[in-house]
Amino acid sequence: MEQARFAFFEGKVVPFADAKVSVATHAFNYGTAVFGGIRGYWNEEQKKLFVFRAWDHFHRFLSSAKMMCMESTYDEESLIELTLELLRTEGYQRDVYIRPMYYKADMGIGVKLHDLKDELTIWTMPYEKYVSNDTNAHVTISSWRRVDDNTIPARGKISGAYAGAAAMKTDANRAGFDEALVMDKNGHVSEGSAMNVFMVRDGVVVTPPITDSILEGITRRSAIELIKNELGLPVVERSIDRTEVYICEEFFMTGTAAQVTAVTKVDHRLIGKGVMGPVTTKLRDMFEDVVRARNKKYAHWNMAV
Ligand code: PMP
Repeated sequence: MEQARFAFFEGKVVPFADAKVSVATHAFNYGTAVFGGIRGYWNEEQKKLFVFRAWDHFHRFLSSAKMMCMESTYDEESLIELTLELLRTEGYQRDVYIRPMYYKADMGIGVKLHDLKDELTIWTMPYEKYVSNDTNAHVTISSWRRVDDNTIPARGKISGAYAGAAAMKTDANRAGFDEALVMDKNGHVSEGSAMNVFMVRDGVVVTPPITDSILEGITRRSAIELIKNELGLPVVERSIDRTEVYICEEFFMTGTAAQVTAVTKVDHRLIGKGVMGPVTTKLRDMFEDVVRARNKKYAHWNMAV
């Protein structure tokens, strides 16, 4: 990993090497942390870095914190300010990833959420592609299940839940696939390991509803708006069955890291003609313009650093 030079840690910006926690830290022992994953995109023409949908990301971050009984002393605006300050200090002139995290910072033994100190940290890093095969990914249906909302809050980004996501990803990669598709407790298609999913079936774009144990993705929300408003296609939020993936025309995954990733094969079955389809292609192009602040209509999603 290309390292950051600074981090926000225990109330101030410190050299990255000083942002350290103890082995006895509650969050390290029990996964009791919540995090965000945000991207900053470099605009070469304007020579400026833009953070994508910062407010929405921090709003979800604070919701995740609330689910874990954390009482934040920061609001969306102050978290944005801290992030911008950190990015200015780093002085990046390239794409970056931003990782805010709230964690149970007390040391010692004891499984609980209450009466523990919460700390905020934010760090950043240069970042480019996440899924290397993002124009023709081959995915497998995972034997793991997506975490259920009654097990670990599914609509929060809770660190502990990512042990399951990591297992999905590793098993898929080791079996030769690019990504995993994971089912919810009812056997409906829920997500990828860290991305939301969409299919195009009979000309309609379909994505699982927020009650099928998905993370309420910000890229998902952006994609829904772009597909409806710019491509003029209907988007339906409903449960997706496994075999619908086999017979749909197009399938793609969305996420801050994954952006818009085309899936062209599932468990050795071709999706559509086995190449990236027109809806995915158009959405990818549009998304790239939007995140890099080249589309004025969506400029409210771009925050200049
Ligand atoms: N699902 C999971 C489990 C994730 O970790 C992510 C990445 N944050 C997503 C979906 C996509 O969400 P977003 O578009 O907000 O990055």
